Amino acid sequence: MDFTELKDIEQKVEEREDFSGEKVRPLGVFFPKDEDEVVRIVRFAKKNRLPIIPWGQGTSLTGAVSCDKNCILVDLSKMNKILEINDIDWYVRVQPGIKLIDLFEELEKKGFMLPPDPASFFLCSVGGAVAESSGGMKGVRYGSFREWVLSLRVVLPNGEVIKVGEPLRKNRAGYDLVHLFVGSEGTLGIVTEIWLRIIPIPKRKMVMIAAMLKDFESAGEVIVGLRKNKILPELSEYVDADVVKALNKHLSANLKETEGGMLLISIEEDSVDDVLKVLEGKTVDIKIAEGEEAEKLYSLRSQAAIAVKAESNKVFYAEDIVVPVSKLPEAIRRLREIGEKYNTKFYVISHIGDGNLHPNIIIEDKVARENAFEEIARMAIELGGSVSGEHGIGVQKAKLMAEQIVKHNGVSVLDLMYHIKKLIDPDDIMNPDKYVELAYKFLTSRG
Ligand SMILES: Cc1cc2nc3c(=O)[nH]c(=O)nc-3n(C[C@H](O)[C@H](O)[C@H](O)COP(=O)(O)OP(=O)(O)OC[C@H]3O[C@@H](n4cnc5c(N)ncnc54)[C@H](O)[C@@H]3O)c2cc1C
Repeated sequence: MDFTELKDIEQKVEEREDFSGEKVRPLGVFFPKDEDEVVRIVRFAKKNRLPIIPWGQGTSLTGAVSCDKNCILVDLSKMNKILEINDIDWYVRVQPGIKLIDLFEELEKKGFMLPPDPASFFLCSVGGAVAESSGGMKGVRYGSFREWVLSLRVVLPNGEVIKVGEPLRKNRAGYDLVHLFVGSEGTLGIVTEIWLRIIPIPKRKMVMIAAMLKDFESAGEVIVGLRKNKILPELSEYVDADVVKALNKHLSANLKETEGGMLLISIEEDSVDDVLKVLEGKTVDIKIAEGEEAEKLYSLRSQAAIAVKAESNKVFYAEDIVVPVSKLPEAIRRLREIGEKYNTKFYVISHIGDGNLHPNIIIEDKVARENAFEEIARMAIELGGSVSGEHGIGVQKAKLMAEQIVKHNGVSVLDLMYHIKKLIDPDDIMNPDKYVELAYKFLTSRG
């Protein structure tokens, strides 16, 4: 492919791999420095019918940035500025390539926070987190990115630039196009500017309860107990016994190893006793941490997937099911049964407080690994849950997403989604053959 027309835009020829291990073999990688360059790249791609893959930091766990045919990557990492922090209207305006950790640090200096904190916050870009509607460890109280995006500038697949939404807390003008783009996994356009709601850092003192559980089942029972007692932690995260071992082995975590793994609950100091009552009879050991010690536990939790990846020797599928919280005990029981059936352990990492479980499947045999992955997702569908809470669909979950939508919403809903994609991207150049489009193809090939 002759890229002479774009020669003044920084570019490279290189292969990449995303965090899920999917290969990325583009014809070229472009590094636009501003929106005008993004527009030129998109127009060039449209003229040449070249698939474009928007790339944040490649931490996708579902193959959302994969490409093994004639495509180009648009790497947004050079568009990484904070454009405005508005301390009266309480929003921040950023370019998409800024790393989430850098944004968190700048906001903290000004006494603000953006609550959604995917465990990859130290790696991922804000644009990627918006395109995935990432959740995170504080999701139980604050929700995922979907709840924090106010407005976006987007380069559409025809090269036109639109701004959707306004930096307003309330806005009823027209269909909610902001939330059409949030979570669209780069299939509808390239996000070039983002307005996000921010809040002042809460002043009340928080503590971190590290509960080493007596068994796996206790994890779900404690969360149901918290709900019954109307306790809403800021964070309630779980890693199972094998993840605790992996953290000790690969990150020198020095955590106590128990059969039930570790539940982390961050909560206001004056609610600690209420939590301890719910934990009664479910733990082997409890530590109440503050300050640096609490930060260390939070940081270990955020690196849990890295420890599991080190343990798995790269054979690694990160599941991402959500079930209604009331169904957590049943989901955990059935997970154990599926593990026994496949003679494996699942290395469960979980935003358990909102019913979001990440069993990491490290079975060597690919067919068995895929079968276990699908069986877990179908269990979630059956329990009224979802095949993805936050990691998205990419290529790995398209078939399962089709099954979920057909079962829970009906064929016509998937059909509508597919036609929205076709309306916005008639030439099929924007991150094609993934997400909704691939799900629709599975459905129609099935007849
Ligand atoms: C260790 C680890 C922990 C994780 N923990 C969590 C977690 O707790 N919660 C969670 O939700 N996720 C988690 N994830 C996965 C999560 O999807 C990503 O970390 C993150 O949201 C993606 O950011 P990224 O910049 O790497 O995007 P990429 O992986 O580069 O891209 C992700 C998707 O966004 C699209 N995209 C990127 N930038 C743009 C843009 N500017 N415009 C349009 N589309 C764009 C891409 O095309 C792709 O479809 C984790 C991943 C890792 C590796």
